[in-house]
Amino acid sequence: MKTQLAEQVIYHLPMEDKLVSMNELVGEKISLKFENEIYCINCDNKIHKSFHGFCWNCFSTSPENSECILRPELCLAHEGKGRNIEWEKAHHLQEHFVYLALSSSVKVGVTRSAQVPARWIDQGASSVIRLAKTPNRYLSGVIEVQMKKYFTDKTNWQKMLKGEEAEGINLIEEKWKAEDYLSGELKQYYSEDDRITEINYPVLRYPEKVKSIDLEKTTSPKGRDGAGLKLMGIKGQYLIFEDNSVLNVRKHSGYVVCLEY
Ligand SMILES: [Zn+2]
Ligand SMILES: [Zn+2]
Repeated sequence: MKTQLAEQVIYHLPMEDKLVSMNELVGEKISLKFENEIYCINCDNKIHKSFHGFCWNCFSTSPENSECILRPELCLAHEGKGRNIEWEKAHHLQEHFVYLALSSSVKVGVTRSAQVPARWIDQGASSVIRLAKTPNRYLSGVIEVQMKKYFTDKTNWQKMLKGEEAEGINLIEEKWKAEDYLSGELKQYYSEDDRITEINYPVLRYPEKVKSIDLEKTTSPKGRDGAGLKLMGIKGQYLIFEDNSVLNVRKHSGYVVCLEY
């Protein structure tokens, strides 16, 4: 889903030839039907198994799935190396941030500046502060590795979806405490920018338990009455339904799904 930061995050779902305004559907019944067809989001070939939306060939060769995506400290773009050096130049030899994001705990992460705030919204963070600013992905990765000793780098997506939040956390204090964790020459990248980005999601009610929908197993999730499910909210890249089921929309990229509302 495409996102836009506003008082509440604005979500649009790209369907074939139009953008569906998802915020308008919160509180409404919608029905989804997986048509048992998946297409690679890179080469558009029909596939039987999706690797994060890609066919196996694209997954194992495309720069979007390089090791340095999940582990920025392994990025070699600054040495002129990578699966596709032009892509690396355009994406990883660019300004990056290390940030602290608050959800069920304080998480450290790395993002390209151009991905702000989309990256933070996708993780379902409720507030975020910039910790360091670097000229490339590699340096942000090295800083993140040092910070991982003190902060988690994973989002607990179940707690995030239940709206559970760490209490009594002051991100500005956490950030400036963390400066001591950083070794000498990396301190020059510490960010003076103490702005907090607050993110509110269109959620009417959080689920008490969370069960994830796999469209390959439940091709058409339904309510007890056999009709569609009421959409109770959207957070991160998840749709939250009235029966505590949630759908990770990103995970189903490339799936042919019929949406009725
Ligand atoms: Zn492909
Ligand atoms: Zn890279």
